[in-house]
Amino acid sequence: MKRKVVTCEECGGECCKKLAFHIQPRFTKEDFEDLKWYLYHEGVIVYIDNEGDWMVQAPIKCSKLDKNGRCTIYDKRPPICRKSKIEECEMNTNEMVVVFRTPEELDKFMREKKII
Ligand code: SF4
Ligand code: SF4
Repeated sequence: MKRKVVTCEECGGECCKKLAFHIQPRFTKEDFEDLKWYLYHEGVIVYIDNEGDWMVQAPIKCSKLDKNGRCTIYDKRPPICRKSKIEECEMNTNEMVVVFRTPEELDKFMREKKII
């Protein structure tokens, strides 16, 4: 049976409530120390997505999202917002394959990968 796609109306704009950006760690100890610094900040997570990309995500809401979960500049929204496809969004896919929520989780990963 085909899985029901969650609509933006049902979701309330989850993807507009976070700031996420791509990073390219070189798997050096220094890079991982920088990643741990991200994780010292409340609510910040680091994850590896389903394409193998490393991402940092912070719980910061876009100022253009209204209290009903709607974009107030929809017709003029930035290109990055236009690229989002609902079938591929966080509500409708398991985008996060590996998630680090604490520096300790990242330390464990570093030890397992023999980076430290
Ligand atoms: S694209 Fe996905 S995460 Fe974003 S508002 Fe729509 S359903 Fe929610
Ligand atoms: S500009 Fe609109 S679509 Fe883009 S993140 Fe902000 S509220 Fe969401």
